[in-house]
Amino acid sequence: MSRVELAEVVYAFGHGADAVRAVDGVDLVVPEGSFTAVLGPSGCGKTTLLRLVAGFLAPQAGTIRFDDAVVAGPGRVVPPQQRRVGYVPQEGALFPHLDVAANIGFGLPKQQRASAAGRDRVAEMLDLVELPREYAARSPHELSGGQQQRVALARALAPEPSVVLLDEPFSSLDASLRTTTGRAVAHALQATGTTAVMVTHDQDEALSLADQVAVMRLGHVIQTDAPRDLYRAPVDPEVGAFVGGATVVEARVEGDRATFAFGSAPLAAPAPDGEARVLLRPEQILVHRSEVGARVEQVHFYGHDAAVRLRLLPDGPALVARVPGLDAPEPGSEVGIGVTGPVVAYPTTSPTGVR
Ligand code: ADP
Ligand code: MG
Repeated sequence: MSRVELAEVVYAFGHGADAVRAVDGVDLVVPEGSFTAVLGPSGCGKTTLLRLVAGFLAPQAGTIRFDDAVVAGPGRVVPPQQRRVGYVPQEGALFPHLDVAANIGFGLPKQQRASAAGRDRVAEMLDLVELPREYAARSPHELSGGQQQRVALARALAPEPSVVLLDEPFSSLDASLRTTTGRAVAHALQATGTTAVMVTHDQDEALSLADQVAVMRLGHVIQTDAPRDLYRAPVDPEVGAFVGGATVVEARVEGDRATFAFGSAPLAAPAPDGEARVLLRPEQILVHRSEVGARVEQVHFYGHDAAVRLRLLPDGPALVARVPGLDAPEPGSEVGIGVTGPVVAYPTTSPTGVR
């Protein structure tokens, strides 16, 4: 298993004025044995980044290392088959004309495939991804989408790759299958100590499955942190809103507190005195029935909780609060609001985070 390190990696499609810098100076360290999620909206360069690590594309600048070995850099590009990378593409991952055993064994050395050792390896991989061994003889079309993704992971892991790359591996699955398949895959990766990079546009998936999350915007990695640290202290309010949802309000910082239109809260981290913007997570906004301060505009009920869209009275900014589902107020009613801190404050002119 390898540590993967990208330094100043650039890849542009096209030339001159028409060039699209899909990956625009990416720095990223994936520790050995970790599960790293690269999180960003569609088109930000995630697939391109993964293809650079796999070796399907060669960077125009920068260096990619597996442990101490340079696999792509000035004057040196190691071809994909020598990088020992397992790749799980977004869809169409399996060979439809091969059974599950042949799919899983595909990356094994030829002499091993037909041998008892090869069959043992296939059985071991089925156990690992929690599929019955009898499935070895099935065709891909006899499996559900989630089962197919597990086979795709088993195929990627069978040859003991130095790193596994997953491109939005669960995006074609429905919500509940996505969760169970995601957990099974994360568990299999952890059990084998495999270094893995998964790209996704789904923040829940990134936060719940990965050890660290690298947030990507417009070809840049703008923040890399453990899920809790990313949620607690996003590098700018836009990242905060993208990762977990948030309302950004104008505030004034004095010492270790921020004061805004409907209250004040302690700061999570020091910030300069003066005008600021603070990030309020939906679960930090409290809804009281007692005093009146906001009108309930919309309620989205999810059962365990509800998202409540509020308008500060008389015609202030909109806020989103998250409350226990059965406690949600009625749309059109008037409520009091408060904030439970601490909050993160940012300068009024946001740093874009993009160099
Ligand atoms: P993501 O996987 O995050 O959706 P991609 O890496 O696929 O993003 O694409 C990043 C950018 O590069 C996008 O602007 C996309 O349109 C562009 N791009 C991707 N592949 C090609 C290609 N083969 N030719 C030209 N532009 C491309
Ligand atoms: Mg993509």
